[in-house]
Amino acid sequence: MSTIYWLRNDLRLHDNECLHRAVERDKPLTLVYVFDVRQFEMMNIGFRKTGYIRYKFLCDTLQNLRENLAKRGAKLLIRVGKPEEVLADLIDRTKADLLLFQEEVTSEELAVEKAVTAAAEKKKCEVRPVWGLTMYHVDDAPFDPKETPLTSKAFRINLSKKAEVRPLFVTPEDIPAPPESLTDFGDMPTAEELGFTEEEIDSNTEPAYPGGETYALERLDYYTTESQLLTNYKWTRNRSLGDDFSSKFSPYMALGSLSPRKIYWQVKDYEKAIKKNISTWWLVFEVVWRDFFKYTAIRFGNKIFAEGGIKNRETDWSYDKDLFDRWRFGKTGIPFIDAHIRQLNATGFMSNRGRVNCASFLTRDYKIDWRWGAAWFETQLIDYDVCSNWLNWNTQALEIYYTNPVHQGGNKYDKNGEYVKAWLPELAEVPAPLVHAPWMMTETEKKQYPTGDYPEPVEVYKKWSRASNLIRRTVDG
Ligand SMILES: Cc1cc2nc3c(=O)[nH]c(=O)nc-3n(C[C@H](O)[C@H](O)[C@H](O)COP(=O)(O)OP(=O)(O)OC[C@H]3O[C@@H](n4cnc5c(N)ncnc54)[C@H](O)[C@@H]3O)c2cc1C
Repeated sequence: MSTIYWLRNDLRLHDNECLHRAVERDKPLTLVYVFDVRQFEMMNIGFRKTGYIRYKFLCDTLQNLRENLAKRGAKLLIRVGKPEEVLADLIDRTKADLLLFQEEVTSEELAVEKAVTAAAEKKKCEVRPVWGLTMYHVDDAPFDPKETPLTSKAFRINLSKKAEVRPLFVTPEDIPAPPESLTDFGDMPTAEELGFTEEEIDSNTEPAYPGGETYALERLDYYTTESQLLTNYKWTRNRSLGDDFSSKFSPYMALGSLSPRKIYWQVKDYEKAIKKNISTWWLVFEVVWRDFFKYTAIRFGNKIFAEGGIKNRETDWSYDKDLFDRWRFGKTGIPFIDAHIRQLNATGFMSNRGRVNCASFLTRDYKIDWRWGAAWFETQLIDYDVCSNWLNWNTQALEIYYTNPVHQGGNKYDKNGEYVKAWLPELAEVPAPLVHAPWMMTETEKKQYPTGDYPEPVEVYKKWSRASNLIRRTVDG
């Protein structure tokens, strides 16, 4: 008899219920991660489902997990293929009688779970899915998740009044070794093996943050007790430039290197030991948003990917490939949009302010189907989380009001142009805030501040006039 723990988006040792159950059982333990080849395929839309930066971040995360497991006597097996096939073979080879995994809530992931479960049950291996995706455990919700409240406010109030965040599972000191029948633990697959082209590999891109639980926990300590940046979170969180204006916990939570419960309890300790204020409340509030989207996905199923979104809105999208390419390569001629997209493409990360503006611009100005934008974010974001991504896109495209990128950049969040200049070297000479509306430059200014091959916008919309006039007045004193 032996246990298999199939790792998915739960790549950590701390606060990990699957690992806890496996260790408690005290039988030879196979810990396996499967690179699911379907997640790396090219899509009809012309790009890969998981992009090269995400692949790199995942490899770094797994490498770190491998090292941390080795320190505790365990080994991580790496395989490439379809989880249902890999696991069926492993059950035979290890004579496993129990398979543990963290359950997910969205269709592709559920389809794999179903196939894995069928394969395991055929071999008389018990399958035990374990909940671990959220801060508030799904069994503690005071409502049926299929009837999750429609607004985040009702969700939060209901939960926080009636449910408590559970205590953490302790990080195990010793982890059972794998069965002796296993000898080949596999290498991390190369990019070529997963189908990446030379062009993709040579794209000169690097994940913004180092992957893995070690760095996740370091970042958590840094952002809270060490630097106490948390105390000012509420007032800095909407910025775009630098590493410290927001927590940067999302890449770690997306792959499960950081548990949302761990964040919660660290904030509670911070409130006792250092300071409790609106910022500490706000950070937890944001992590509850993340929970809200997981629960909403349970309620709405595949509607979260539907053209009209979860509320079946009437829509009339454009499918202009040229406009879409301008957007996804940061060539719209709108600096606040282009800078954010170029940062995303080079590092796999973009601030929340950037995401709001880029999503709004693509869907409300270019009027392109929001699902194309969500798919591009899925490919590129190192913090890609199926529920947070697709439901935030739902919100931006179909629910809330328009966001004006000229106003947001030039008059609000980047008045001194530092952020856009960091990502758009063509605009280095243009003074701020004019750098947010280069089309407003006079002929003399154009000669004075050359912009190289930075593109002209396809259209300068009338609705931006007030914002660009304000920029002009600021420049003219
Ligand atoms: C169009 C769009 C797409 C997005 N796609 C993703 C995605 O794929 N993965 C992802 O984790 N977040 C996504 N977000 C939410 C948000 O932008 C990121 O969570 C945040 O920018 C991550 O940076 P941070 O960890 O420094 O955030 P902080 O401001 O420090 O927030 C702390 C944590 O709260 C959670 N959080 C904050 N804002 C949101 C939000 N709007 N929705 C859900 N959770 C939130 C995240 O887990 C985040 O790590 C998206 C937002 C938009 C508008």
